[in-house]
Amino acid sequence: MKVLITGGAGFIGSHLAERHLERGDEVYIIDDLSTGSMDNVEHLKGNHKFTYYIDTIRNRQLTAELIDICDIIYHLAAAVGVRLIVESPVNTIETNIQGTDVVLSLAAKKRKRVLVASTSEVYGKRDQVPFHEDDDLIMGPTSKGRWSYACSKAIDEFMAIAYWKEKLVPTVIARLFNTVGPRQTGRYGMVIPSFVRQALSGQDLTVYGDGSQTRCFTHVSDVVGALMGLAENFEAVGEVYNIGSNHEISILQLAERIRELTQSNSRIVFVPYEDAYEEGFEDMMRRVPDTTKIHHLIGYAPKCTLDEILTSVIEYQRQKMVSEGALPVFPHTSVLVAN
Ligand code: UDP
Repeated sequence: MKVLITGGAGFIGSHLAERHLERGDEVYIIDDLSTGSMDNVEHLKGNHKFTYYIDTIRNRQLTAELIDICDIIYHLAAAVGVRLIVESPVNTIETNIQGTDVVLSLAAKKRKRVLVASTSEVYGKRDQVPFHEDDDLIMGPTSKGRWSYACSKAIDEFMAIAYWKEKLVPTVIARLFNTVGPRQTGRYGMVIPSFVRQALSGQDLTVYGDGSQTRCFTHVSDVVGALMGLAENFEAVGEVYNIGSNHEISILQLAERIRELTQSNSRIVFVPYEDAYEEGFEDMMRRVPDTTKIHHLIGYAPKCTLDEILTSVIEYQRQKMVSEGALPVFPHTSVLVAN
C-alpha cells in the first residue's frame, strides 16, 4: 500500500510514517517545515520506501501527483499549538482551511480515502465531560484569537463530511485530544515538553492560571494505531471519532509529577493567562474524550500510562538537550523509574 502523509515531518506525522514503513508500506510525506522538522524523519531517509517533499500542500501540482499515486491520504498538515495560533491568526486560518480544500478537492478526482486530523479544540467551551462526537460545539467570540483555530478545524470537518455526502469521497475525521511523546516540541506552547525542559534545566515550571484545569494525555504510539485503524476501516467513512485517553490530571499535578520523575529542584510558579497568551485568553477547564465509538469500531484502548508517557518524553528531551549543549552529557538529574 502507498500512503501520503501531509505534515509528515511533524510530531505525529513522523511517527505515523515510521509505523507504515515498519509494516512494509510505501510512504510519501509532504511538509513545509513550518512547525515540522527534518530531524523527525532523518532516520527514515535511508529507507527506499520513504519519499519526502519539502513543500506546501498549497502547491497543487505536486499535491495532485502525490494524491494520485497513493491509496490513503492522512491530512495532518495544519497550524498547531495555542501560542502559534494566538500569534499568527491569519496563517492559522489560511493554512487550515485552504490546505484542507486543496487536499479534498484533489482527492475527489479519484475518490481517494482521506483521513482528516481534527482536534478536541472544536468542542470549544463545553464544560460537560466526557465529550461525545455528536455534542454541540460551543465557541467563544471572533474577537478572541484562540477560537479561530477551533473554527477553522470545524470548517475542515464540515468540508470532509460534505465531500463524502456530495461527492462520495471516502473521508473520516479523527478528533485528537492532547497527544504527547518523543519529538513533540514545546516551542509552540505544548505543556509536557515545556515542563520537562524546564524541570531538566532547573528553570521554574510555568503553570498557567491556577493549575486546576485538567487534560487527558495520550501517547503518540496509541494515537498512530488509532489513525491507521480508522483510515483502513470502511465503516468509519463519513464519521467523526475521538482519539484520546480518559485519565484526567490537573496541570498542577502534572507539573508536580514531572518534577518528581526528573528529580528536579525547579520551583512551580503560577503565570496569569494574560501574561502567558494574551489579554482575555480563555482556557478550557476540562477536556475528556468519550472514546466508546472508536472502541466499538476498532477495539481502541490506549496502552501507555501517564508515567510511561512522561518517562519517554523526559528521555527524549534529555538527549535532545544534551545534543543542543543545554545539558551536560552526565546531568545530575535522572528519571525515576515509574511504578
Ligand atoms: N500550560 C501551562 N504551562 C505551559 C504550557 C501550557 O500551564 O507552559 C497549560 C495550558 O494553559 C493548558 C494546558 O497546559 O491549560 C495544556 O496546554 P497545551 O498547549 O499543551 O494544550 P491545549 O490543551 O491547551 O491545546
